[in-house]
Amino acid sequence: MITKGNFLLLDSSEFNGWLQQQKITRTISKLQVHHTWLPNYSTRRNQDHFRCLEGIRTTHLANGWSGTGQNVTVFEDGKIAISLDRDLNKTPAGIKGENTGALCVEIIGNFDVGGDAMTDEQRQAVLHLYACLAIKLNIPVDTNHIVYHAWYTSAGDWLGDYIQGRSSKTCPGTNFFGHGNTRLAASRGFIPGIQAEVQRIKNGDEEPMTAAEKKRMDDLQATVDAQSKWIESEKAKANMECPSWAKTAYEYYKPFIADSKGSYDFWRQLVINYRKENGIQVQKV
Ligand SMILES: [Zn+2]
Repeated sequence: MITKGNFLLLDSSEFNGWLQQQKITRTISKLQVHHTWLPNYSTRRNQDHFRCLEGIRTTHLANGWSGTGQNVTVFEDGKIAISLDRDLNKTPAGIKGENTGALCVEIIGNFDVGGDAMTDEQRQAVLHLYACLAIKLNIPVDTNHIVYHAWYTSAGDWLGDYIQGRSSKTCPGTNFFGHGNTRLAASRGFIPGIQAEVQRIKNGDEEPMTAAEKKRMDDLQATVDAQSKWIESEKAKANMECPSWAKTAYEYYKPFIADSKGSYDFWRQLVINYRKENGIQVQKV
């Protein structure tokens, strides 16, 4: 976690912990999805993260904006940057006329067909970021609430899908997440990944088990298995067929016994009764 200039840079694994500490003071009901187009993977080569971010900010200030347009930026190596001049509680400048109640996320890269192939690190960080935000802000994970820039006109009217010639831009790219920028592409190729990540986070699967925890789980399982075996054998003992050492007693008392099954203690008592009645004493050793 590094703060420098106008940005805070986090590893993807630090994001959820950081987010939990944030107090959200405005209503956020939509998460916007953008690619930067420029900068992209070609311009990013060996460039410092903060230099890249300050460059974006300078361009946005030149637009006459009050600060960096987006609240959050996701890098090709999976790092996540928070704009300190556009923190989560400030309305972003992401989609003209549609920014109130929205959070703007810029994904570094050009994801139009023929552009950048998203790295696994960035893909994972993007899914994780939207999942964490959806949980924290209580936003449903669907295409009404997680929206592509391309689903709006340049005037900010909702088209509800990418329509070439009517959409303001192709953003987040005609090959975004390997599926494209249409509503169908989002519901097939993007939304399910976020839903799976939400489940993973809610199940507490974030941290893999340590070797010690794994051993404790294995030991516990072994104890449970041994106990169920013991219970089974006790059940069998409580309902055993007449054992050979009780045969004579059983034959003797047969007219008075309903069936030939009983517990170990029952057969033992039967033998004692038989000996008593027939004057058979057991030799003590
Ligand atoms: Zn955009």
